[in-house]
Amino acid sequence: MDFSFNAEQKILQTTLADFAARELAPHYASRDADADLPREIVAKLGALGLLAPMVDPAYGGQGLDYVSTGIAFEEISRGDFNAGYVLLLSALVGAIVHAHADERQKSEFLPAICKGGVVTALATTEPSGGSDAAHVKLSARRDGDAYILDGEKTSISLGSWADTALVAARTGTLEQGARGVSAFYVDLHSPGVSRNRFKDLGTRAIGRAQLFFDGVRVPASSRVGAEGAGFVQVMQGFDFSRSLIGLMCVAVAQQSVDETCKYVADRQAFGGSLARFEGVSFPLAEAAVKLRAARLLCYEALWLKDQGQPHGWIAAGAKWWAPELAAQVLHQCLLLHGHLGFSLDLPYQQRMRDVIGLEIGDGTAQIMKLLVARAIIGNVARGY
Ligand SMILES: Cc1cc2nc3c(=O)[nH]c(=O)nc-3n(C[C@H](O)[C@H](O)[C@H](O)COP(=O)(O)OP(=O)(O)OC[C@H]3O[C@@H](n4cnc5c(N)ncnc54)[C@H](O)[C@@H]3O)c2cc1C
Repeated sequence: MDFSFNAEQKILQTTLADFAARELAPHYASRDADADLPREIVAKLGALGLLAPMVDPAYGGQGLDYVSTGIAFEEISRGDFNAGYVLLLSALVGAIVHAHADERQKSEFLPAICKGGVVTALATTEPSGGSDAAHVKLSARRDGDAYILDGEKTSISLGSWADTALVAARTGTLEQGARGVSAFYVDLHSPGVSRNRFKDLGTRAIGRAQLFFDGVRVPASSRVGAEGAGFVQVMQGFDFSRSLIGLMCVAVAQQSVDETCKYVADRQAFGGSLARFEGVSFPLAEAAVKLRAARLLCYEALWLKDQGQPHGWIAAGAKWWAPELAAQVLHQCLLLHGHLGFSLDLPYQQRMRDVIGLEIGDGTAQIMKLLVARAIIGNVARGY
């Protein structure tokens, strides 16, 4: 076994760590206060080749492997978790389009996603339910060379300002379940689209929103893949994005552990360093070990993806464990800073609010455990 990154990956890691510390981290708090992520950040991420980096260079991507993509997610999220969301949605939509669209669609849609010319989102969740993701009600009715979209999507990351979205819509009947769902790459500036932004606990800069589709006419040529194949396509995308979410969360927790180790070593009380007390050092020791294990789980899934081997349940496990662990670790880091940790001037409260969102987004812990159970026990453990 070899747990090390190769020379190119190490360069990527140090380059992005430097970029994130210089350009992202200093504005992390103000972006939360302003609830705004400037478009110039998206352009910079695009210029660095970090948006949907796994996409073939022929369509504007870098052809990057998945382990290296994970490195990018870690380093960028360490500086600003919100910027990690931009990477996440572009990677997810980019990978699905790359895998399932035809040549014309790939040439038309992907370069703008990769360069940051458009901000893209993924719209599956509806008001009637997110966990039961196949129960899509938003309808896409064929009308000549177009489809007419009617219905509502909710809880869409970047939804308040995204230019495009990959939208799961029902082209078949409700009885057809997942097989009646198709995917459409939709221009969100089209007539009939309206939005309503949520007031969120965390990641306020990303602008999670409801999207309303009122007779939105989309060309039939914007349907990605065959009619009825949309649900499976999107779920295949989640297979790897879950490891990337894990790494986003591990990164901010690790950054906080690093800072807290330094703080408790420097802080003087009872005639010496606070770190002398096991009540202070053991929570950090536990956090360090658990974060290392969660990080390896994420990278194992990405490595398996690079090898073309099954990795879905490992990624699901990473998606359940890493955000939950990160939230617990961040709570501990906040407490170890004493009264200072409770202040909005320190980042622990913001980081904790931010990672909690990804305990829900992209599938909750319960749904991830159902996926793991189904993989290790079989369909008898279906659950839903
Ligand atoms: C920060 C954030 C970002 C998001 N971004 C996006 C996005 O970009 N695009 C998008 O489409 N959606 C997005 N979502 C929506 C997210 O995917 C859903 O919220 C999530 O899948 C849960 O669906 P729900 O909210 O409808 O809860 P429900 O499905 O109603 O579940 C409610 C509770 O019941 C539990 N539960 C449900 N079914 C079962 C079961 N069978 N067994 C055990 N427990 C169960 C759930 O775990 C949860 O605790 C985002 C959500 C958040 C919070």
